[in-house]
Amino acid sequence: MDKSPDRTEPVDNRAAVSVFRATMDGMELEQALHAARALVLADLVADEVADADIVSLVEDAVVHRRWWVEQWPEGAAFVAGLIAQDVQDALLERYGRWPLCPVCTTSGDPHALDVEPELGPDPHWVCPKTAVAVAPVGRLRTSADI
Ligand SMILES: [Zn+2]
Repeated sequence: MDKSPDRTEPVDNRAAVSVFRATMDGMELEQALHAARALVLADLVADEVADADIVSLVEDAVVHRRWWVEQWPEGAAFVAGLIAQDVQDALLERYGRWPLCPVCTTSGDPHALDVEPELGPDPHWVCPKTAVAVAPVGRLRTSADI
């Protein structure tokens, strides 16, 4: 028999807490978004695909993810990986596969790298065929120099 009282919180109260948290974390969210934008742009520059149209794809992804992370502030650490994937998806429609895998260059069938984890902190570009972690998101240029 369940003797515990009904602990359901009033919905209004929860909404107020959520607004309060969003305000408190606002600076952090902006920093996370700014950092994510810089990382993805760095990778685009590394592959020399950062023309004006493509930069605007990144801006669109940042705007979308700003809304997303305002709803879920705990996801701030995930925005870099998410924006990388958003831009990757947008590029696939307008530009083609990006970023191409630098590991499987001899297979004759170039494929794109995946972001792993798809939803998590510290995202990396990973070859889905060989499971090689090529570089952290934002560090493709470094890997290309090696
Ligand atoms: Zn590969």
